[in-house]
Amino acid sequence: MTAIILDGRALAQELRAAAQSNITALSARIGRAPGLAVVQVLGDAASARYVRSIEKLCAAVGARCRVVALPADAAQVQLEVTIDELNVDPETDGILLQLPLPAHIGTDAAIMRIDHRKDVDGVHPINAGLLAQGRPALVPNTPAGGMELLRRYEIPLRGRRAAVIGRSAIVGRPMAQLLIQADATVTVCHSRTADLGPVLRECEIVCVAAGRPGLVTADMIRPGAVVVDFGTNVAADGSLVGDVDFAAVAEVAGAITPVPGGAGPMTNVMLIRNLIAAAQQ
Ligand code: NAD
Repeated sequence: MTAIILDGRALAQELRAAAQSNITALSARIGRAPGLAVVQVLGDAASARYVRSIEKLCAAVGARCRVVALPADAAQVQLEVTIDELNVDPETDGILLQLPLPAHIGTDAAIMRIDHRKDVDGVHPINAGLLAQGRPALVPNTPAGGMELLRRYEIPLRGRRAAVIGRSAIVGRPMAQLLIQADATVTVCHSRTADLGPVLRECEIVCVAAGRPGLVTADMIRPGAVVVDFGTNVAADGSLVGDVDFAAVAEVAGAITPVPGGAGPMTNVMLIRNLIAAAQQ
């Protein structure tokens, strides 16, 4: 293998320690620990596992975490009233609305209800708009984690050509915006992009968030390119795989994130960063 491994697990550990000391200092200043509220409409098993991991991380870094669980058949109005209460609760600095919501709930309306200053997931349109204008915003955690990995490994971005595969509001689009802010020249590819290969082969940076195992193959990668794989897919044997054919691409790329252990572990620690930023406001 020729590629350097961008080790998200090690970096997340380091950032966690830094977050812990920031929280200690912040708690002393504001007279309480920063508070996260996780709003969860019950019913999604993966979501329940994620919520437990957030609770553990908050406990480890000294943040307060309150899980507000609503029944699976909760009405839209019940969810919105819960969000309204958290918006005005002085001890709640950040609100994380667990997605996906059940089909009977309007996700966009629920997200709109969150006070954007408490939107630690960076999903509110005000934060997305601020990010799109290159202004300070609460940025979605997964792309923020990808950028932090690139920054810590001193991957040059200015003037580089970057491709982002995926245009979701939570990963692909904000990643493209962050790369633009870092002065890269960015192409966004998606499910209607006719042919990925010619686009990717032009690029020194390739970020993939499609949720399609094996989508990016070695022949699409320019020798020496940096590959960030956000994909999280469960393979037939139960193992976790990304969107990139890791073994083959690692022979061509200059640097690559593994799955697991690359972009994934960065996400939660970036949530804590957003919580600290929201509490400091
Ligand atoms: P999504 O389904 O909302 O979006 C997927 C995007 O990929 C879409 O914009 C679509 O146009 C594009 N796409 C799909 N098939 C494609 C193809 N064949 N060619 C090109 N583009 C294609 O998913 P998402 O929420 O953005 O998540 C993307 C991936 O990132 C998933 O695997 C998800 O599990 C993972 N993810 C990881 C983390 C983490 O690491 N913590 C967090 C969020 C999402």
